[in-house]
Amino acid sequence: MKCSKCKRDAVLFQRYSGMHLCEEHFTIDLETKVKKTIRKEGWIKSGDKIAVALSGGKDSTALLYFLKKTFAIRRDIEIFAVTIDEGISGYRDIKICENIAESGGVKFHTASFKEHFGITLNEIVQKKGDINSCSYCGVLRRQVLNKTARDAGATKIAYGFNLDDEAQSVMMNVLRGDAVTLLRKEKPVLGMLPRIKPFKTIPEREIALYARLHTEGYEERGCPYSHNALRADVRGILNQYNYSHPATKYALLNLGEKLKSGIPADNSGAETCAACGEPVFGTCRVCGMLKELKKE
Ligand SMILES: [Zn+2]
Ligand SMILES: [Zn+2]
Repeated sequence: MKCSKCKRDAVLFQRYSGMHLCEEHFTIDLETKVKKTIRKEGWIKSGDKIAVALSGGKDSTALLYFLKKTFAIRRDIEIFAVTIDEGISGYRDIKICENIAESGGVKFHTASFKEHFGITLNEIVQKKGDINSCSYCGVLRRQVLNKTARDAGATKIAYGFNLDDEAQSVMMNVLRGDAVTLLRKEKPVLGMLPRIKPFKTIPEREIALYARLHTEGYEERGCPYSHNALRADVRGILNQYNYSHPATKYALLNLGEKLKSGIPADNSGAETCAACGEPVFGTCRVCGMLKELKKE
């Protein structure tokens, strides 16, 4: 197939636009959309230092490449990478992330569960089994990532989440009947860096193609403890349904964002944990988990 814009060989067919795109026109199309999202959300401003949460996979590697390329000429904006080592053998590889940051020409910061909490995720799974490993990991990682990025001078944290991730999350909350998560706005807390998701409108397969065309050194690895059955099911359902209804993932993204303005942010509760001194919303889940882990 030929590109709908220039008659070179196409590398992608976009069902939702009906266009075939060559490498150059695909790249322009994707980057234009991401820049538009960043502008519309007011996400990156003069003086910002953006910490990219780098996992070593395609999404965050592509995001680091995009941000560096787009803002390289801006002396008033800094981009760097942060990777958290949860201590999951055979999964998280700090060296891969360090190499990606180095070839991208950005600074690299890293921290581990072991040095922050005195325990690795492997050890948590040994104690507690792997049923709740994702909630331990998510809660603990969020605090270390926030602290490491903040100590490095970051003003915001950028995540590589794509359209598929976002649509799946909304759909999962619907299927769980979790109205609170769907409706509640996240309250800004002092010391908790705002999170930005520049790829939120780009389908996963386009991010995969963009990563393949422009970056190297990344590795897609599945976490050995992650058997999130609901997400896998939802992913399958959405991909199938989206085939005949190509706007579905965008519709879910929009629905999630519209619903979030429903309930105003809850202003009760402490803003700093008395035990660990980190920003929290209400009670500190990190300290709760650590206390529980030390009991046995
Ligand atoms: Zn073209
Ligand atoms: Zn705490």
